[in-house]
Amino acid sequence: MLVREILRFCVLRDYELPGIVLILLFTAIEPALRQNVALGQAAPPAQAERSGAKFRLVIHGGAGTISRGQMSPELEKEYRDKLLEALKTGYEILRNDGSSLDAVERVITILEDSPLFNAGKGSVFTHEGTNELDASIMDGKTLKAGSVAAVKHIKNPISLARLVMEKSPHVMLVGEGAETFAKAHGVELVPQGYFYTQKRWDQLQKALKDEKDSSAGRKAQPADTSEGKHGTVGCVALDKGGNLAAGTSTGGTTNKRFGRVGDSPIIGAGTYANNLTCAVSATGTGEFFIRSVVAHDISALMEYAGMSLQNAADKVVMEKLPKMAGDGGVIAIDKDGNIAMPFNTTGMYRAYIDADGKPVVKIYKE
Ligand code: ASP
Repeated sequence: MLVREILRFCVLRDYELPGIVLILLFTAIEPALRQNVALGQAAPPAQAERSGAKFRLVIHGGAGTISRGQMSPELEKEYRDKLLEALKTGYEILRNDGSSLDAVERVITILEDSPLFNAGKGSVFTHEGTNELDASIMDGKTLKAGSVAAVKHIKNPISLARLVMEKSPHVMLVGEGAETFAKAHGVELVPQGYFYTQKRWDQLQKALKDEKDSSAGRKAQPADTSEGKHGTVGCVALDKGGNLAAGTSTGGTTNKRFGRVGDSPIIGAGTYANNLTCAVSATGTGEFFIRSVVAHDISALMEYAGMSLQNAADKVVMEKLPKMAGDGGVIAIDKDGNIAMPFNTTGMYRAYIDADGKPVVKIYKE
């Protein structure tokens, strides 16, 4: 079109030679011009990210009786900083096209390595003064899952759970068998002393004293029902490929005995992920979460009853669990990137990136 106009103009005014030069020039630069127009129309990176494939990440650091009065500003800052560090690390993995499984494993590893949480390094003590750790992970794309329970020498149980999922034909390995499997796959074992922290040791001593007092008929200190219990960690993620994953890791409950295992390593109770519905990680008194099959129940309400993620999670955490006196909460993401974080306790350590890409860390009901 433009070429024809130039030719007509040149012929009319006897400018044939300059006209031909102009046409040749235009033909040469036309592809570059077109490309520039296209580039000019491309969205800036931030917008492209928002309008492109969705990716989301939510983490928790346990639910329980967590009140502002109990917490010093310094300790609160430590929690917030660590949650933020884990959140940002996981988010970067997803932003750089990493998988939801990689994000979940990495986030949980960071929290396991912190003494603040009841998982990995900061795990609570059993009645016998040992530490027994549980963890699980699930891939929403393949519905594959891996879990370990009552392991005593594994620094990062979430990574061992992933190994079980990827390198064994099984879903759940426990105790010594799980550690033999770990050694066979080159996982370094740590001595029990690695898990010693004064705070958790003191919590055990208090629990043992309360137990003794109550069996002697003496009234135990007013019960802080969650003391020594909260601090389990979990993560749910949706990656750019639309794949969901969930993981949970815990030291269980203070003063547990007889090989007690809670919901965290039980697929369907403490952890569940399914690309058709959602990814869920739970925290709370495990016995109730096992009996209510919490994580799978939320997914089932979405799949079979057509509920939204928020309604399904509220139904289970705010209606069904309280009826049986089950305390705790969940974090969840659905396949479309919606998130839900209901809890029926006074607090739940939790963090997520909001729709504008801003990190949000919360502890109390606010
Ligand atoms: N659910 C964990 C357990 O029962 C504890 C917790 O989440 O606080 O082992």
